[in-house]
Amino acid sequence: MDGGNSSKRTIEALPEGESSAMRLNVSIEVKILDCPICFEPLRPPIFQCSVGHCICSSCHDKQLDKKCHLCSDRTSFKRCFAMEHVVQSVISPCSNAKYGCTEKVTYYQKEEHESACQTAPCFCPESGCGFAGSTKVLLDHLTAQHKCPLTALPDSYTASLRLQPGLNALRCTETSYFFLFSMASEPFGHAISVVCVQPTVTEPNFTCNMKYDCTMTSYCESTSCDIRSSSLSDGLPTGYDLILPKGKISDDQKGIVLTANIRRPLSFSRPCLRGKAPAPAITQRPCFVFDIEDDDEPESFRRYRL
Ligand SMILES: [Zn+2]
Ligand SMILES: [Zn+2]
Ligand SMILES: [Zn+2]
Ligand SMILES: [Zn+2]
Repeated sequence: MDGGNSSKRTIEALPEGESSAMRLNVSIEVKILDCPICFEPLRPPIFQCSVGHCICSSCHDKQLDKKCHLCSDRTSFKRCFAMEHVVQSVISPCSNAKYGCTEKVTYYQKEEHESACQTAPCFCPESGCGFAGSTKVLLDHLTAQHKCPLTALPDSYTASLRLQPGLNALRCTETSYFFLFSMASEPFGHAISVVCVQPTVTEPNFTCNMKYDCTMTSYCESTSCDIRSSSLSDGLPTGYDLILPKGKISDDQKGIVLTANIRRPLSFSRPCLRGKAPAPAITQRPCFVFDIEDDDEPESFRRYRL
């Protein structure tokens, strides 16, 4: 019998096996499912010595002396199909089930799934609020509980936002992330930052061009920044992406009107943003580079020296 095919059949049978008639709920010591040498979860192919000690494929490849490190016997290792069936049939719910993940995975796939699970929780950044939930649930929470203004990101990926002090959400058609603009009133003016709220934090997935254009004061300001990604487990990221100096903006108490254009950066967008490499022909968008000429600038201005 071909062990590989047999293993495959077992995996494919798992969904049907979820019926109570087919499966048995058991409690099992986790260390039984771990390789006794490297302590990583056992996954096919699994090998055993002549006594029956099971080890993982990686540790098996390192047993050049053909000696079992557990019983010290010289031995020839063989595939242990029985143990492979066991590890393939031990499934458990994702740890984020309480946040809505319905995935059930084998023990050896659990860590891999959970590190990329799109239902992992994101956290409410409002001080004193410990709410956590999937991005969709957190967005509902922010708008319902904290009256956070919500704008939908149009297909053009350019949104006109009327920012209020505090948090402002920008919803996308994808539900695995959303953008959160924060506007703080500082002594020197309005300080604006943007973060992409998503459960698995990776390199910045997006860039944002922000533009403020006030016809009342003829003041215009714009910036381009990488959008940081965060589950907000440590609160909002520090630093600002755009400063609108006091006295140069029309503050009619109805909010600050800002145009935000969100883009997925190309892999070479970082040097382009810093003006260190020629912009590739396919990037037609302008790269804004500006400096603020004020020796007494507040510390938070510095982030934006590109
Ligand atoms: Zn191992
Ligand atoms: Zn052994
Ligand atoms: Zn999950
Ligand atoms: Zn909250």
